[in-house]
Amino acid sequence: MFTIEKTEIAKAIQNAKALHPTVRMIRFGEYTVTGAQGGTYTVRCWRDREGKNVDCTCPTRDGIACKHGLAAVDLHIAVARMRPEPKETTRPSAATLGRV
Ligand SMILES: [Zn+2]
Repeated sequence: MFTIEKTEIAKAIQNAKALHPTVRMIRFGEYTVTGAQGGTYTVRCWRDREGKNVDCTCPTRDGIACKHGLAAVDLHIAVARMRPEPKETTRPSAATLGRV
């Protein structure tokens, strides 16, 4: 497991790009990542006070970003952006509504 905000992820991002992984969403926050060698790992993404946490079933040690995790985070963030999040949604202003 690693936390995005506390982990050096630049190298893992490069590795993830080289891997060309197949990422499938099981449900929001849970993904399977299949690498070039055919290994499939399950990645979970969640958020808490520490930041965005990523847990992968591959043997990478805790505190080190793995490419599967980063590949899944990419999809996770894209999906999260499409989901309505009441806390982060800004209400349309009166001015915007007036123009409809
Ligand atoms: Zn991994």
